[in-house]
Amino acid sequence: MELSVFDLFKIGIGPSSSHTVGPMRAGAFLVEKLRKHGLFGRVKHIRVELFGSLASTGKGHNTDKAIVWGLLGEHPDTIDPAQEEPLYQAVVDTGSLLLGGERRIRFAPGEDLTFRENELLPFHPNGMRFTVEDAHGAELYRKVFYSIGGGFIVGNKTARDDQLTKESTRLPWDFNSGAEMLEMAHRSGLPISKMIFENERAWRSAEEIGAGLDRIHDTMQACVERGFTVRGDLPGRLRVERRAPDLYERLSRQNEGAFADPLAVLDWVGLYALAVNEENAAGGRVVTAPTNGAAGIVPAVMRYAEKFLPACNGARHRSFLLTAGAIGILYKERASISGAEVGCQGEVGVACSMAAAGLAEILGGTPEQVENAAEIGMEHNLGLTCDPVDGLVQIPCIERNAMAAVKAINAARIALYGSGHHLVSLDQVMATMKQTGLDMSSRYKETSKGGLAINITEC
Ligand code: SF4
Repeated sequence: MELSVFDLFKIGIGPSSSHTVGPMRAGAFLVEKLRKHGLFGRVKHIRVELFGSLASTGKGHNTDKAIVWGLLGEHPDTIDPAQEEPLYQAVVDTGSLLLGGERRIRFAPGEDLTFRENELLPFHPNGMRFTVEDAHGAELYRKVFYSIGGGFIVGNKTARDDQLTKESTRLPWDFNSGAEMLEMAHRSGLPISKMIFENERAWRSAEEIGAGLDRIHDTMQACVERGFTVRGDLPGRLRVERRAPDLYERLSRQNEGAFADPLAVLDWVGLYALAVNEENAAGGRVVTAPTNGAAGIVPAVMRYAEKFLPACNGARHRSFLLTAGAIGILYKERASISGAEVGCQGEVGVACSMAAAGLAEILGGTPEQVENAAEIGMEHNLGLTCDPVDGLVQIPCIERNAMAAVKAINAARIALYGSGHHLVSLDQVMATMKQTGLDMSSRYKETSKGGLAINITEC
């Protein structure tokens, strides 16, 4: 286990972690590299090529704009969402950008960003190549990045070595599978959230961990609340209307905790997820969980627990996030969280599995019940394809989060009614998800060349 929960839960912007956050980080990272190699002062022009899925659906996911923001020196967690469009438009209007906020270079997005739809770089469907030139047009530097899901980026060498990081930190509970997680939980007598907390202590203080988890929680919930209030159509040709504000108004007419229809709680859960994913589709501030496309599920289930389950108030969100993070890291390390690699089972499926585990944990589940909840959350998302209509993270993504949030609650409840004993293990379901993803036609892996994407008539 080489990742921290803070690597998995990244504060960023919509609409896509792999197609927006990752490319933006790549642009900003390129600037850092140029400084490090002493080349920054000689740069006069940059060309960027996008490959595979980034080329197929990059326009709908703002990949081109995100790269420009990164080259300007902006970062996903700090950029002001209200400034995103003006910053990009200024580059289009002038045919130039202020590299790293300091050095004016020639860059016209229409000419210098190329979408190579039918070409792939060797290691992942989401490839980007940056070519940097000096004032004479000579090549100064060339760098390939892959955006491998959840906002993570790797270079050619890291991808070849199949390693995300070179971390050598010794963790007290260094589990790399569901089976090892359970074995260590038995040995230690600790719940999963506590083991992960002790792992995090290898990197930061207890206070920093608490504050970091609170910040993630608060950013998620601020996103839900913003989604309750902003009306209008989402960006893109589909002109999808935001539904969360109207639904919020209707549901608010009754007390959130008292219902004649006991299933009305599901309306609230769905609303929470819709609110987040509409914000995400509009390019707002969201947290990868584990990706942007699936960002509504963890906040929705966590908010459900806080609002509707009296036992789950206080700082239970920390245990929820630590447990959900542990499960997400296992998927990241053993399978994939990239829709371009394994379809939507790697995004919404993983988020459902994470949220189910988080909920089971704060409801007092044993480690076996938590692992069972995570397994159920994925088992019934196996085979889920990624086919966003018009390349936008809107249809089916927004509603799909609402459906999966409810499914996660159901998975946790089924697991908690059981003894923890079950036939299909989390490791088996993760392996199945990965295999299914590899077998899946690329048409169903974030290329918008199959499924709903070709069966919906464009407006
Ligand atoms: S269909 Fe799923 S994987 Fe594909 S963009 Fe939407 S949320 Fe992401």
